[in-house]
Amino acid sequence: MKAPPVPARPRSLIALPKAHLHLHFTGSMRHSTLVELAAERGVHLPEALVGGWPPELHATDERGWFRFQRLYDIARSVLREPADVRRLLRETAEDEAAEGSQWLEIQVDPSGYASRFGGLTPTVELVLDAAREAEAATGVGIGVIIAANRTRHPLDAKTLARLAVGHAGRGVVGFGLSNDERRGRAYDFEGAFRIASRGGLLSTPHGGELLGPGSVRECVDTLGADRIGHGVRAVEDPRLLEKIVARGVTLEVCPSSNVGLGVVQTAADVPVRELFEAGAPIALGADDPLLFGSRLARQYELAREVYEFSDAEIAELARYSIRGSAAPVDVRKELLDQIDAWLAPGGPAGR
Ligand SMILES: [Zn+2]
Repeated sequence: MKAPPVPARPRSLIALPKAHLHLHFTGSMRHSTLVELAAERGVHLPEALVGGWPPELHATDERGWFRFQRLYDIARSVLREPADVRRLLRETAEDEAAEGSQWLEIQVDPSGYASRFGGLTPTVELVLDAAREAEAATGVGIGVIIAANRTRHPLDAKTLARLAVGHAGRGVVGFGLSNDERRGRAYDFEGAFRIASRGGLLSTPHGGELLGPGSVRECVDTLGADRIGHGVRAVEDPRLLEKIVARGVTLEVCPSSNVGLGVVQTAADVPVRELFEAGAPIALGADDPLLFGSRLARQYELAREVYEFSDAEIAELARYSIRGSAAPVDVRKELLDQIDAWLAPGGPAGR
């Protein structure tokens, strides 16, 4: 049997078509934009967001998480005008396009912006309108995930779930749950997720980042998760992992984020290889490039360099990202065909 031809140089990870399913709104801002808007608006940025950027955080202890949240809040505070929201989404879509990401699902908790933009509904309308503009300008398809904050009251989450469902079909594709896992059990948000699921939205809560497999199990069993934000600690529970594989729950794994937040020491400690070998669908994500210093393509580089994924395996990661997305059927088919072309001998290697 003849060995398959080895490409002269490695296939370009930028040219690999992919979807980005785990990216937060403020966290997607370009660092240069943060610095520029802060100067314009007289917002003092701490050293960790200027000379010391990207910051080193240790969110596994409460103080570290608090520090992460504080930096995030400062960054959010520079977004004051509707034009800022439009700029952020346009630049983010440009950055996605530049890295071969052709479908983006961006998460936003509108409560963090509602006081500035006239309430929850106008905030969601603004984000959706900005997403449509960014889509038209860049060709990157954009879906919005409305995320509830697990440190707030579950009734607030229900309000957001109803708001999200009210915008299903107009750009909102999913419902998430974010913030400190240690301060809000998934279990308490069952009602909100039921509303979202009945309204046809994907269930995409965070879990298994700061807490262990029990937190992931609650997301799967109680919130009917279609995808889990992070979920990496599912690797500690083989039966849970079997369930994730059987149900096809996509894990939105964000290696640079796990390192940035101190969830693991180094990228090599993120169990990407183990989860993949077990058959878990994995969609790589950047989470908050503004705070962790790298975007989506870097996560695919880590797959190649650190987890030693072959190009065929990297193509499978990209396929998982498409299959786990809310992209329309024709978009998915087109992107899956493009992935096959990327992998085919003589494909767009090195482009
Ligand atoms: Zn996240």
